[in-house]
Amino acid sequence: MNKNYVFSLLGLFILAFGNAQNYKKPLVSAIKEADLRTDMYQLAADQFWGREAGTLDELKVSMWLADKAKEAGMKPAGDNGTFFQFFDMYRHQVIPQSTLKIGDNSLKLWKDFLVAEPVNASLDAEIVYAGNTEPEDLAKLNIQGKILAINASDKNIPKDMTLFVRRYPGFVRNKYYNKASELGAKAIIFITDDISEQSWVEVLPQMTRGSYGVEGLREKITNNIPVLWIKRENAGWVKNNPKASLSLITETYQYPSVNIIGKIEGTDPVLKNEYVLLSGHQDHDGIRHPVKNDTIYNGADDNASTCVAMLAMARAYKKQPGKRSILFVFHGAEERGLLGSRWHAAHPVVPKENIVAVLNGDMIGRNENNEAALLGGNSPHKNSEELVKMAEDANNESTKFKYLKDWDSPSHAEYFYFRSDHLPYAKIGIPAIFFTSVLHDQYHTPQDESENINYKKLFKMTEWMYRTSWKVANETVRPKVISNFSLER
Ligand SMILES: [Zn+2]
Repeated sequence: MNKNYVFSLLGLFILAFGNAQNYKKPLVSAIKEADLRTDMYQLAADQFWGREAGTLDELKVSMWLADKAKEAGMKPAGDNGTFFQFFDMYRHQVIPQSTLKIGDNSLKLWKDFLVAEPVNASLDAEIVYAGNTEPEDLAKLNIQGKILAINASDKNIPKDMTLFVRRYPGFVRNKYYNKASELGAKAIIFITDDISEQSWVEVLPQMTRGSYGVEGLREKITNNIPVLWIKRENAGWVKNNPKASLSLITETYQYPSVNIIGKIEGTDPVLKNEYVLLSGHQDHDGIRHPVKNDTIYNGADDNASTCVAMLAMARAYKKQPGKRSILFVFHGAEERGLLGSRWHAAHPVVPKENIVAVLNGDMIGRNENNEAALLGGNSPHKNSEELVKMAEDANNESTKFKYLKDWDSPSHAEYFYFRSDHLPYAKIGIPAIFFTSVLHDQYHTPQDESENINYKKLFKMTEWMYRTSWKVANETVRPKVISNFSLER
């Protein structure tokens, strides 16, 4: 047999089994840990004041990102030939003219009482002080048409989760709300317990900010009954069932937020019209209550980590483009409820059917070097067999992370699968996965800083996302969506 004959046999063999790659290897050497570090120290620096959506700081960091995207070799893919896709956020906020009078006491908003959810209310009613009553016993009281005042209690509330203290007032609210409103209460006043005493300072910045929405989500305020909080040192205000009059005025207005979008075109004349969407979010939590003498929530891991990884991947794709094009979307307003990704999923800059997959990263720079999670990697969150296999093959090639599978379980206390920007895309039938190195003690605190990033880990996570995206960009057949996939939480 001559050499050519051997090669053509080999060729037939390869064709028959279809396993061989007919494309180049990924250019991992173009991704540099030093670049990740340099970009991180700029993006998560105090200069951007925590990058809060709907603020000048977010606009400022968006300009920085657009410059960086250009430098990394991307072409603009936002609106009108720019890197920007602006959208309107709805914002609902209780205004300072709101009043609460209990008996003879006029209470000061945000000092004497908190308003958990921005709603409108105008009512005069008697208070029923319920003391330590659990929800199942509320029916024994007559609260129809009255204001229920009740001591917060942590009974039956699971405690094993991150940011428990910050989330606790919400859990207390959920524990009582349905029962109280079913029994005809006009409002609820919670009186703090040990835990919510600590929560006060943490929820104050959230409650004063109000709530946010976007087209199709929280465009209007709810008709829920008002939920208020007072401190236990002031419990005397409500104890003798006095009359109260409450006037809550909520204002709704619109603010801009922005997605930064760039692309690197593919080399294949046909496949270049298809896009692999690499996703992260640029915003974080702005300036809030101090923790360890710091008030700037710089969000280094959350989610400057993925933004700098996307810039690094762009440099690799610039040097060696794939067959398909890469669409880089740095979403805005993720922390306000996945607003930028909801907007882009509804108004994509390329036809929706040309987005072959979404590879989202959120918090990819912390914890053990050899562990990570692929959310959407397991049933029932998995929406594409082929996409998950590509991510797993990419992991087996080099990074070899051990999977933190429980984070993808529907019974996981954090519901983490539902908390990042891949979700709106999965909901509209695009194969989508979520790479993460998961939560840690400094999550959503001012200590989520550049110097606390594990750069070896960030490099490995970037490599994993890049190797996965390279397969999606080059494989002949695009990943399919599992036909009966549906997202119930
Ligand atoms: Zn995040």
